[in-house]
Amino acid sequence: MPSTLLKSAVNGTGVILHTGLGRAVLPQVARDAVMAMTDRYCTLELDITSGKRGSRHDLVTELLCELTGAQSALVVNNNAAAVMLILHALARDKEVIISRGQLVEIGGSFRMPDVMAQSGAKLVSVGTTNRTELVDYEAAITDRTAIIMEVHRSNFEIVGEEASVMLEDLVDLGTKTGIPVVYDHGSGAMTDLSQYGLGTDRTVPESVSAGVQVTCFSGDKLLGGPQAGILVGQKEWLDRMKSDPMMRALRVDKMIFAALHATLELFLDPEKLPALHPVTRMISESTSSLEHRAHILADRLRLQFAHRCGIHVNEATSEIGGGALPVRQLPTFVVAFTSEVWSNHALAKAFRLQQPAIFGRLVKDQFWLDVRTIMPGDIPVIEHAAQAVVTQLDSGTE
Ligand SMILES: *Cc1c(COP(=O)(O)O)cnc(C)c1O
Repeated sequence: MPSTLLKSAVNGTGVILHTGLGRAVLPQVARDAVMAMTDRYCTLELDITSGKRGSRHDLVTELLCELTGAQSALVVNNNAAAVMLILHALARDKEVIISRGQLVEIGGSFRMPDVMAQSGAKLVSVGTTNRTELVDYEAAITDRTAIIMEVHRSNFEIVGEEASVMLEDLVDLGTKTGIPVVYDHGSGAMTDLSQYGLGTDRTVPESVSAGVQVTCFSGDKLLGGPQAGILVGQKEWLDRMKSDPMMRALRVDKMIFAALHATLELFLDPEKLPALHPVTRMISESTSSLEHRAHILADRLRLQFAHRCGIHVNEATSEIGGGALPVRQLPTFVVAFTSEVWSNHALAKAFRLQQPAIFGRLVKDQFWLDVRTIMPGDIPVIEHAAQAVVTQLDSGTE
């Protein structure tokens, strides 16, 4: 089988939103919705009351408005596309003010200054890497200013001397000067994650209620849905984006709408999220449950490996990943392999070559499987694969 083929995988890395492994695992309801909308025709752009051509943009607007408190909403291909569309529709040939502390690079190829340049907006960076004050924004406003932009730092934190401007103060400044404030929220957190020890970041509904004109975020980070870029905010600005010529190239497919709608519906009843929404389940799993599952996995693997490897349960930390809060760590339990005969690289490769491909973490001379990202049904899969791993490594045919 060619190694470039898209294959299903078991994620033992502990990184919940692993971009290399496809980010969020979709909820069952989202998978069912995709099936139901793809094995026959569907009303992607037809209004069933009038029988006339409708707009695909309306499919999730109402639900997004209900969940976030926004007046309007729009879905594009990913959050990078959302930022591109905002800049193209609202700031082409004009100026965008942004703090130097927020000129981020996310996921290797999304560099804020480059995205600005591509969209035809002129970047006006203010303040310094670690300190930006309201007066810095005020002094940069000219009659060419189109947007005041706020970008979530997502993948880094500044430790030590730091000053940044509250979103509310930017909104006040924007209101006084008639300039919209745009917030690239990134992660798309809808609910307060402090209950899971993940800090007190502003949620999307909190960004909307702070008065931000347009907030954008990813569909496949903490929202736990399909790849998408979601924009919510005031109708006036979203209408301008809907009618931008670039919109046609950024629109998403019926499968995305089906999966996104089903995922969003789960947020109407947040108490059920840990049971029905895999990303929330992974974030919220208790350490006692993780420890229990790690011991089950370790016991089964010890049988398969029969003294060829030392197999232990260790305490460790998992990451959220995917450019969404990777700096925040969650305590977890891992199954750690130590071997005198096989290198940890050989072990990792043998697991990767199984079907589904199994990924873990290499730490010092060990190979780790972090149970936080291992799905309940994965344990028998790993046990079965371990048999093949042992056979292959024993015979030297890795
Ligand atoms: C992740 C992220 C992006 C890119 O989003 P994609 O959906 O991967 O295109 C942009 N901005 C911020 C702040 C992010 O966290």
